[in-house]
Amino acid sequence: MYIYIHIPFCTSICSYCDFPKLLYCNKYIDKYLDSLEKEIKSRYNNELVKSIYIGGGTPTSLSYNELERLLIIINNFNIDNDIEYTIESNVESLDIDKIKLLNKYNVNRVSLGVQSFDDNVLKELNRHHTKDDVYRVINELKKNNITNINIDLIYGVNDNLDILKKDIEYFLELNIPHISCYSLIIENNTLFGINNREYIDDNIDFDMYKYIEDKLTNNNYIHYEVSNYSKNGYQSIHNLNYWNNLCYYGFGMGAVSYIDNYRISNTKNLSKYLNGEYIDNTIYEDEDIQKSNTLILGLRKVGGINVLEFKNRYNKDIRDCYNIKELIKDNKLILKDNYLYINPKYFYLSNDILINFI
Ligand code: SF4
Repeated sequence: MYIYIHIPFCTSICSYCDFPKLLYCNKYIDKYLDSLEKEIKSRYNNELVKSIYIGGGTPTSLSYNELERLLIIINNFNIDNDIEYTIESNVESLDIDKIKLLNKYNVNRVSLGVQSFDDNVLKELNRHHTKDDVYRVINELKKNNITNINIDLIYGVNDNLDILKKDIEYFLELNIPHISCYSLIIENNTLFGINNREYIDDNIDFDMYKYIEDKLTNNNYIHYEVSNYSKNGYQSIHNLNYWNNLCYYGFGMGAVSYIDNYRISNTKNLSKYLNGEYIDNTIYEDEDIQKSNTLILGLRKVGGINVLEFKNRYNKDIRDCYNIKELIKDNKLILKDNYLYINPKYFYLSNDILINFI
């Protein structure tokens, strides 16, 4: 089983952020952890855990003692040997003591919200670190044997390709095995949305996407999902489980679970969550929805989906379920060696292709 734990607290709110989050306030943390512990006890059936992902929010915004309490709660899972155990962090909340604490509780992967190394871009995003802070934290993680590190990067905040080039150079200099690169999305209920910020020109966005792809793949990073690149052997096991449309628990405010074909969404309301009213809605996904999700999520992976596995899972040939002939004929999809995948030439436009399967 794969486990996601949501810690919604952040020390400041980023201008683009659309995640379930709240400003950190220490009077809520103990209550939140009480409620989280109860939720886990009420829903988890002692399944063997193969991956844990603590996301947010900013889980490391918790104080040392709060973070230790969270890690102790998580220790009660029936944890397999050699699991991937990730925590998300921002740069400024990860000090040496917390890094040692993560190590003590066997957290072996850190996903750092870097977004950019450029001071002006960071200011626009309302992020509060510098390039030197990133270097310092990553060195400290490595010194403490946490070498499986991801950084998140956002491009398209402005149309300056030189800034992006520098960002990628700095990333390469860090010599870490994973990067997630997202083009800025402007959501209505964010500061950028409220201020009617505009997207950069599509052609420049494409140039940036292409630059990232070429530069990273030329430096031995494997492009394995629309937004994700890793060194060989460092693909995110946890996220691959989502893209393979397999089951997982999500605990915490706003978290989502996928269990026995039920998509279960937790409340995004803190008061309700603290009151133990965890679940907001539960939707049964019938076989048509399951197949469609498996296809859409699977095609996010550069390697695509194995059509034989699809047949074993649903007892149906994928070609009989969807009209993919035209897309194959147009060379947008490729079916080769039992894998169906998006032609790399069209990967940037994958949403336009995936829309056919909704
Ligand atoms: S740190 Fe992450 S969750 Fe918190 S406001 Fe920024 S983007 Fe959102």
